[in-house]
Amino acid sequence: MKIIALGSPGVGKGTYAAEITKKYNVLSISTGDLFRENIKNETELGKKAKEIIDSGKLVPDEVTIGMMKERLGREDTPNGFILDGFPRTIPQAEALSEFSEIDLVLNFKADKEVIMQRLTGRRTCSNCAAIFHVVNIPPKQEGVCDKCGGKLVQRSDELPEVIEERLKVYEEQTAPLIGYYQEKGLLKEVTVNEDFGKHKEEILDRIFKVIES
Ligand code: ADP
Ligand code: ZN
Repeated sequence: MKIIALGSPGVGKGTYAAEITKKYNVLSISTGDLFRENIKNETELGKKAKEIIDSGKLVPDEVTIGMMKERLGREDTPNGFILDGFPRTIPQAEALSEFSEIDLVLNFKADKEVIMQRLTGRRTCSNCAAIFHVVNIPPKQEGVCDKCGGKLVQRSDELPEVIEERLKVYEEQTAPLIGYYQEKGLLKEVTVNEDFGKHKEEILDRIFKVIES
């Protein structure tokens, strides 16, 4: 099963992708996590990406495409994958079609106010990248990751001005992918406005039904 998770920043793609991974035993690949890993390890790629990410803009297509081509070319994806954050532009989608087949594109939707609330309250584990939310998905102990005990932080691209820029970039460069995949007959939509912490089973049931329909 080869799935793309589409949707605005803050819609919850990463959270749902982690659940889809558990249920179907597919590999979740997040471009944002790959970039942040490279930044943490101070690689050449990380050096190129850091400033761009902190400004809310997109890393250049050739850099992102090269990284994903390499990642998908490795042998550790026998059951397929879910891509979280790739493709994010039409040229990325066209490049992807040359190195991988895709079975399904899930377009996650939520109201604007819901998205803003999710983005400003998000906390990420500085060690394992697990995602929490101060209100919707609180960790058992404040500031500490449930999974690995790592420190939870607010990402540097989650400042209000940067969030604004990311939403603008999404509308301009990523939203056109919805029509692109609709035309190919691959798109299915899932709307999630509820709080994940309180409605987890119901939300997952909805997502899994759409995947299996
Ligand atoms: P979110 O889904 O909340 O926007 P991500 O972790 O997916 O967060 O992405 C964080 C940042 O990483 C983006 O704002 C962008 O700068 C960069 N990035 C992630 N994926 C891509 C991509 N496919 N192409 C270009 N830049 C990307
Ligand atoms: Zn952790």
